[in-house]
Amino acid sequence: MTPKDHSRAVLITGCSSGIGHAIALRLAKGAWKVYATARKPETLKELADAGCRTLALDVTDEASMLRAVNQVEAEAGAVGVLINNAGYGQAGAIETLSMNLIRKQFDTNLFGPLRLTQLVLPGMRRAGWGKIVNITSIGGKLVFPGGAAYHGSKFALEAFSDSLRFEVRPFGIDVIVIEPGLIHSKFPDTLLASLETDSGPYADFHAIMNRKTREMYHDRLPTMLSGGPDSVAVVVEKALNARRPKSRYSVTASAKLLLAVRSMMTDRGWDLVMRSQYRREKSPKKQAK
Ligand code: NAP
Repeated sequence: MTPKDHSRAVLITGCSSGIGHAIALRLAKGAWKVYATARKPETLKELADAGCRTLALDVTDEASMLRAVNQVEAEAGAVGVLINNAGYGQAGAIETLSMNLIRKQFDTNLFGPLRLTQLVLPGMRRAGWGKIVNITSIGGKLVFPGGAAYHGSKFALEAFSDSLRFEVRPFGIDVIVIEPGLIHSKFPDTLLASLETDSGPYADFHAIMNRKTREMYHDRLPTMLSGGPDSVAVVVEKALNARRPKSRYSVTASAKLLLAVRSMMTDRGWDLVMRSQYRREKSPKKQAK
């Protein structure tokens, strides 16, 4: 199949804001037929005006995923590119999180992308061409304290992507991982809103997390090393247009720096750095009593 023959339909999740919105906008200006999706399709008006098809899709709702894939296949033959972007960060010490919250995090960040992948693969295999782009995070390679649920879901999405690459390559399907660093979007607001200000044994820790997250997204140095949503869109577009795309792309200077530093450190060394950054005022042992 020549590049001209294959489906140019791109199905993108989580386009109501941030990275998904920027990817849809950028690809719509190119030769792609963009299907921008969101839980609330009324948030997609600007993308519709920019030429995107808009559909309702909640990655935790099987019926909405099926409907969206069926519609793209009916109109374009197959989903040519699936961009699993929808996601959020659930913050908080594991002991303080209900299993419902933890399951919701994995349903959104891991099981949604996995299920959508299953739904688009038959069409891609029939076409002998396809690209699955998973927006993971540097948080799929290294961890910050208090992010166990988020990091668990993103580490798993990285592993799922690498394993899938072997399975689908013989059918002409690429699996591409995109690892953003600090990106200015609604992400930190959602993360902070998910953090309970409890008065229990983790109260100090949660207060430090709150402060550190704000510093990370707003202080001068990290801001200089961060990017806007379109910096991710630029890299996604480049990967889609590459004849032989790389397996993974990191985005922003903060991502490259942190990944390089982490790869040179032992686990003990990283723990030490994190402990020095997230130092508690009082001993939690004394607080717990
Ligand atoms: P954002 O502006 O908060 O966008 C998140 C998007 O995900 C929104 O459109 C949101 O829709 C959607 N979403 C959440 N749950 C959903 C569900 N169940 N079904 C469908 N859509 C859902 O944040 P962002 O920075 O663009 O995040 C996009 C991706 O990048 C996420 O996977 C995130 O983990 C990853 N990432 C972000 C950063 C960063 O620093 N910003 C860094 C690394 C990785 P609603 O409007 O309906 O909530």
